[in-house]
Amino acid sequence: VTPLLNHGYLAPIEHWGSDERVIEAARMSTAKGFQGWGPFPCTEPGCMPVEMPGDLNFCTKCKGTGEIPGDEKLLRYLYTHAHHTPFEMAGMVIEVQAPIFVFREWHRHRTQSYNELSARYTELPDMFYLPDESRIVGQSATNKQASGEELDEGLAEWARAEMALSQQRARIVYESLLKAGVAREVARIVIPVSQYSRMRASANLRNWLAFCTLRMDPKAQWEIRQYANAVGALLAERFPRTWALFMEGK
Ligand SMILES: Cc1cc2nc3c(=O)[nH]c(=O)nc-3n(C[C@H](O)[C@H](O)[C@H](O)COP(=O)(O)OP(=O)(O)OC[C@H]3O[C@@H](n4cnc5c(N)ncnc54)[C@H](O)[C@@H]3O)c2cc1C
Repeated sequence: VTPLLNHGYLAPIEHWGSDERVIEAARMSTAKGFQGWGPFPCTEPGCMPVEMPGDLNFCTKCKGTGEIPGDEKLLRYLYTHAHHTPFEMAGMVIEVQAPIFVFREWHRHRTQSYNELSARYTELPDMFYLPDESRIVGQSATNKQASGEELDEGLAEWARAEMALSQQRARIVYESLLKAGVAREVARIVIPVSQYSRMRASANLRNWLAFCTLRMDPKAQWEIRQYANAVGALLAERFPRTWALFMEGK
């Protein structure tokens, strides 16, 4: 489990497939299956040993390198030539706890499947995202969506205290409404988007990579970037060769 922000986390639930399975899927076209990761020593009769590199140029099979590439060559070809469907043969399910405004951005990724905590069924947890003072910065002067420079001294401290107050106030009203018998689905109307929610998300490897491309980017909001980086760390463990290609292409 990776802790994120002040109360969030990202946990792996399960994954399927592997870099090898991607190759196997692509090889359905030739019925050859996975041949192994290289490089392998060149076995061409007459090919000189690698210790004599000057004499190797005559070998047409290894082009004088003494080595024959393995299936890493095919994986690279698939990845760099947008042959995407074999990467749909692998995937991952994760559990995420994040503020509702992060989920608002996340749920735009329609190729993932989601199941989220319901505030109609369950009382929301008393958990709000309160950014550190260092995160409370000014509006960017050049990018209409983004954060900019540090605020003047004392402003961030004041803003953070105001945020905390409004969250506490919202919570007090929410609890009073529930206590008075107001329906959960109605009482939640007072809850701000800094409220934490919880979900499971599932996607295939192709679409997790698309998510990482968009949400690890510096243009994405800092908070969702923390989650996308954590998704990336899980993908790197489970699909190391595909992830290396993704990072090369960034
Ligand atoms: C920095 C940033 C700023 C953003 N700002 C805004 C904003 O101001 N307002 C806003 O509304 N959104 C905003 N978004 C969300 C953005 O428009 C996308 O909805 C989001 O990034 C999901 O991308 P996607 O559609 O590629 O992903 P997915 O929905 O997962 O789709 C993946 C791919 O499947 C294909 N696809 C899926 N559905 C369809 C379809 N219906 N028709 C055709 N092809 C489809 C497309 O090729 C798509 O790229 C922003 C996103 C980012 C990263």
